[in-house]
Amino acid sequence: MRHRRDLFVLPILIGAVALLIWNGTSFFETMKAAGEEFTDDLKIASTTLTLNVALILFGWRYYVDVQQEVQRRAESEERAARIASTDGMTGLLNRKGLSEAGEEVRESARAAGRHATIISLRLNRFKSINDRHGYDVGDEVLRRIANGISEAAGEHARVARVAGDEFAILTTMAPDRRERIETLAQALLEIAIRPILIDEKLIHVGAFAGIAATPPEDLVIRDLLRRADIAQAEGRAGRIARPVWFDERMERELVAHGEIEQGIRVGLENEQFKPYFEPQVDLATGEVIGFEVLARWEHPLSGLIGPDRFIPVAEENGLIDELSDQVARQALAAAAEWEKPVDVSINISATQLNDSWLAQKIVRLLAETGFPAERLIIEITESSLFADPELARAITTSLKNQGVRVALDDFGTGYSSLAHLRALPFDRIKIDRSFTASLHRDRESEAIIRAVTTLAAAIDVPVTVEGVETARAHSALLQYGCQFGQGWFFGKPMSSDQAAQLVRKREPEARTEAPAKPAKRSRA
Ligand code: C2E
Ligand code: CA
Ligand code: CA
Repeated sequence: MRHRRDLFVLPILIGAVALLIWNGTSFFETMKAAGEEFTDDLKIASTTLTLNVALILFGWRYYVDVQQEVQRRAESEERAARIASTDGMTGLLNRKGLSEAGEEVRESARAAGRHATIISLRLNRFKSINDRHGYDVGDEVLRRIANGISEAAGEHARVARVAGDEFAILTTMAPDRRERIETLAQALLEIAIRPILIDEKLIHVGAFAGIAATPPEDLVIRDLLRRADIAQAEGRAGRIARPVWFDERMERELVAHGEIEQGIRVGLENEQFKPYFEPQVDLATGEVIGFEVLARWEHPLSGLIGPDRFIPVAEENGLIDELSDQVARQALAAAAEWEKPVDVSINISATQLNDSWLAQKIVRLLAETGFPAERLIIEITESSLFADPELARAITTSLKNQGVRVALDDFGTGYSSLAHLRALPFDRIKIDRSFTASLHRDRESEAIIRAVTTLAAAIDVPVTVEGVETARAHSALLQYGCQFGQGWFFGKPMSSDQAAQLVRKREPEARTEAPAKPAKRSRA
């Protein structure tokens, strides 16, 4: 359009000017021939000349208008393109803008013999800043961090905000100078975690960073960004406070993770998750007083899979609810039929404690399986109390009102603090098996077990010690005053049929050998 009009106006103007020259010459010739007289020829020549001048003026005006319109259009096209490639809030590039910058970076990296690299930087728990201080403060935090990153990244880097709380820095590096890009990433990380003062409030933001690099000929921005993101997610999962380099292993693990998730979905549909029962005994009498339910995946191809492999994946993908329900339902239904009334303990994950309906779900499960509330113990770990202590308290209080007991699991491993013992009225404290394992090697473990037992006795809460593997450990624990114990010395996790048999006898048959066939897992 623009070119067609240009092509059309310019020749006419040139033609008109040529005509004007020819008209002018013939006008002067006519004037000379006419002398003093105003002849008809002179009239025609002067009119033609006037029309010609008018045509040129008109044509010129039109030409200028067209030029201006063309320029206006180009500017607005450019503005639209810029808006489409930038992030309105921070003025950085957005995902599209970053992709577009790829071409240029590829060329410059190729020319300089460098690699293209992306640093992925994600703020930690940014949502809670919005929740706590409001969106205006959240936006301001983002803008300040964006400015800081832009400045530090330098003029050759392209900086983008690729998601609400995620930045990507695209630049190049000499292939043998990885440490330089690491230093830059570390500097950006430090900018992001620097406390920010807004409205007299000091705001702390955490952040994690990942780095990925590629030779320019293989550069596809989307893929490079995904790799940097994977590395960053690995850093986040491991709470690693420095930038993490992408490596192929991470991608393979991600695929395996995805396969496990898919497998869990299929396993849930086909009821492949089964409760196994680990006996808990009265240390003084050896009597079986209950069982801890431990999930096992009876996989049709891989055999028996332990919970360490699938519980974390199920937690991450929102499948833990259904999985726990499947396992606990079978466990309680089976235990309701046993000849003698023994306790059953089930494990509750931190993610389950974030569900405000958890107490109702457990009560319904009890009603549906006919298992008495008074014989159920739920085990929760200390660390799971942190996410939302108020909700955890509400859930446990509501369960306790129904008669369900609550045990504090893995005591001594995490943030063990006496405050937790006071915060919730626990009915039992479970000492983590790491202390039992090192009981005879490490005086500290012995001291801790003794101290916890004394403390528990003072507040009148019985102690269960996990991981009792030997007769020697058993007698030592008895001597320290621990009431209950579990571990391979008393029996490995067993099927519900085997558990039913054991209940009938009440006492483990062989103390030196496991009555059940050992579970096929790395830790067991
Ligand atoms: P946990 O609750 O601390 O469970 C005790 C773990 O110690 C079990 O591992 C058990 O097999 C193992 N163990 C017991 N006695 C001994 C012993 O004498 N020596 C040694 N070396 N190990 C012993 P498991 O079954 O692999 O369970 C691992 C964790 O998975 C559990 O730790 C629990 O946190 C979680 N878990 C298991 N089943 C479920 C479930 O149904 N739901 C949820 N949410 N978590 C579960
Ligand atoms: Ca447990
Ligand atoms: Ca435990």
